[in-house]
Amino acid sequence: MNFFLRHLLAIALVIAIAFLLDRYLSIRVAFWWLVCIGGLYSVFSAIHLARLHHWASLPRQRDIPSGIGPWRPVFERLGRFLRQESETRTDLLGELEHLHAAVDKLPDGLTVLDRYDHVIWSNDAAQELHGIFGARRPIHHFIRQPEFLELLASREENSRPIRLPLATRPGRSFEIRVHRTDNDQKIVLTRDVTDQAKLDAMRSDFVANVSHEIRTPVTVIGGFAETLLDLELTESERRQHLESILRQSQTMQRLVDDLLMLSSLERGVDERNEQPVDLHGLLETQVDDARALSAGRHTIELRIDGPRFVRGIPAELESAVRNLLTNAIRYTPDGGSIDVRWARRDDEGWITVRDTGIGIPPVYLPRIAERFFRVDRGRSRATGGTGLGLAIVKRIMLRHQGSLHIASEPDKGSAFSLRLPAARLLGDAAPAPATSDDGPSEATAEGTPR
Ligand code: ADP
Repeated sequence: MNFFLRHLLAIALVIAIAFLLDRYLSIRVAFWWLVCIGGLYSVFSAIHLARLHHWASLPRQRDIPSGIGPWRPVFERLGRFLRQESETRTDLLGELEHLHAAVDKLPDGLTVLDRYDHVIWSNDAAQELHGIFGARRPIHHFIRQPEFLELLASREENSRPIRLPLATRPGRSFEIRVHRTDNDQKIVLTRDVTDQAKLDAMRSDFVANVSHEIRTPVTVIGGFAETLLDLELTESERRQHLESILRQSQTMQRLVDDLLMLSSLERGVDERNEQPVDLHGLLETQVDDARALSAGRHTIELRIDGPRFVRGIPAELESAVRNLLTNAIRYTPDGGSIDVRWARRDDEGWITVRDTGIGIPPVYLPRIAERFFRVDRGRSRATGGTGLGLAIVKRIMLRHQGSLHIASEPDKGSAFSLRLPAARLLGDAAPAPATSDDGPSEATAEGTPR
């Protein structure tokens, strides 16, 4: 029953008893009945109020006392309400702790500032990166660079990020952003962007390199075309100019082919393109082509000691071997020799192209397979090089879980080796043909001859 109704009933009962006492005994008895009940009730209530007052002045975690009579449900409800409150608080604290622990695990630094730019809270990464310690210290004690202070002072809601080096992480570069919240606080985010910065630099270098590589042939073609149009030339002069135009357009064609090959190699590997490759046949064909290219200027030998079949992408393996052989011919003076060897060593397969050419100074070896890196730019261009060959070879080997190894000595020669992992060696017997589930092979479409 409703708490209020119950009390009304109790009061009605007391008054009804007073009426009965008045009727059957006397008004005096009825009066004393009312006085006694009222007095008792007042004392009873005063005791409970005193207990409640005493409890309220104790530390909060103490249990609420139990009540008697009409005070019991009041005390019980108050107790339940306080229990719920404390459970909610514990839950919230737990969640807040989880949140802090998660934010602490972030690799990015996160610092919360109050309206006076004092640090309210910071995660582990921010403390390490900026050396933040102590409570409510101004952020400029930890990040002093003027660019950052300017950013902090700017009124924009989400200002543009700035890039800064930090003394705690020499050699790396960081991006700092400041976000303003609705309640006048600021969030400072610090992110390590070293890899991104390197990537950006690589991308713009690449674009600059490609433009530079294309500009030369385009200028030459334009110049010769103008001469052909403007001047009266003899037949042999005309021919010479047209041949130059053809040579330059072939250079551009090679460059475009290599760029397309590189970009297709940078896409993910489609395993359906992989199939058993007859490496003996592939090497024999490539060595025959190389002999034709050398036109007797070099002695080219092939030695085969490894298994006939390997698993791979035929066009890519062919392109890798062709690149090494073409380089060996281009960088080996006439009369030199070139040895091609296929052997199994420590369970792995090694294709080595060794020449007696001009070699590479040791200082350039670490960069030799970078895109557009050449030891001698003029020589590379004069022999039709694009500067992309070894970058292509390196990528092809990565796609085959193998690697490219280079040993070289200036004026003595070089050895370029392609390592294929043991899992790719299939043995000498022709492997069973692939099932129809494997789908059609698109391998030949991928390879672009240099
Ligand atoms: P390029 O088209 O210039 O030959 P590559 O990526 O194939 O480009 O080779 C990069 C550079 O490595 C060449 O410019 C050359 O300086 C050097 N190089 C490659 N192969 C050889 C080799 N067999 N002997 C000497 N130097 C070589």
